[in-house]
Amino acid sequence: MTTNDFWLTNLVTPSGERTAMHVAAGRISGYGTPPAGASITDANSRLLLPALIEGHVHLDKVLWGTPWPGYRSGTTVKERIAREKTFRGALSVPVETRGGLLVEAEIAFGTGHLRTHVDIDADWGLTNLEAVLRIRERYADRIDIEIVAFPQSGILAAPGTADLLDVALREGADLIGGLDPAYIDGDPKGSLDIVFGLAEKHHKGVDIHLHEGGPLGLFELDLIAERTRALSLGGKVTVSHAYCLGQASPDELSATAETLARAGVSIMTSAPEHSMPPLRPLWAAGVTVFCGNDNIRDSWSPFGTGDLLERANIAARQQNLVADDELHAALNLITGATAKVMGLQGYGLSPGDRVDFLLVDAPSVPETIASPPRNRVVYKAGKLVAGTL
Ligand SMILES: [Zn+2]
Repeated sequence: MTTNDFWLTNLVTPSGERTAMHVAAGRISGYGTPPAGASITDANSRLLLPALIEGHVHLDKVLWGTPWPGYRSGTTVKERIAREKTFRGALSVPVETRGGLLVEAEIAFGTGHLRTHVDIDADWGLTNLEAVLRIRERYADRIDIEIVAFPQSGILAAPGTADLLDVALREGADLIGGLDPAYIDGDPKGSLDIVFGLAEKHHKGVDIHLHEGGPLGLFELDLIAERTRALSLGGKVTVSHAYCLGQASPDELSATAETLARAGVSIMTSAPEHSMPPLRPLWAAGVTVFCGNDNIRDSWSPFGTGDLLERANIAARQQNLVADDELHAALNLITGATAKVMGLQGYGLSPGDRVDFLLVDAPSVPETIASPPRNRVVYKAGKLVAGTL
């Protein structure tokens, strides 16, 4: 679609209404009946969804475009970190190519915004960041990319990393990352103080990978909430994974959920089979939870396609979300909740919002989550970027 003023007719909204939408100058101008002579595109009864939002992915790690690497199970996180670095260091296919393939897949599936973590340490320097910045530039008219400076080797455990993170935040990274401050860095408070110190210095948000379980993980969530409150960073801090929430007793969970909600700390989950943060109690406490695909065909995982509807389907299965309102809530994990965390303006399907949406071959939201349709027609920044009507 090249015209910037047209009507999409015969579409179904997420609430089930059959209507037509007027698009002009990259914005949704309204819904209703097209006037005579209007430029019309028939949506053929497809369901309209707001752009999907990838809350957590690793564009520098993906191995698409390289031969199948073969996988082993049962290794520790530290062993995997070391093995990944050796393996990726020897690859001849650059990040721009591998990550670009994943970005293209995400766009075709209907992802309009994406948060990626890029590995930074003294060995990598800023090479991964620079490559992902080039990817961001290359696809700027088809997807918005947010970058987290991620200390995959730790901060205190990897001398020189804190300084590099500092530079990364000056040179294009949007958020500061972190990783298991006890297991990797051996000093939860010291490690988190560096992360939050950098957030304060650069006025950036925070997104910390926390795999540490049990009481230690819950203690670290308290430390993160405390620092979020102290720096008034509510709404800008995410903890990714937080398996400890999936391992907590009901009492521990409700106390920690309240702490997170009060501080404005959100939780990202890739919906793992074990120790997934329980959605219903977190929602009840007012915690914002969102989803991401995380590792896709990289040194950490052989799985994944880049399809967020598939991720929402997995989350719904893991948490037994089956009622219609629960399946709508599962869609929110990859749309509205992530938009809130990223602070997106003009996101949604209301008049005035940007033309960032997709049409899918399904009659309703619950059916879309239950059986993600393959066919997607994707509009971004006012233009058709994938699929055909
Ligand atoms: Zn991750």
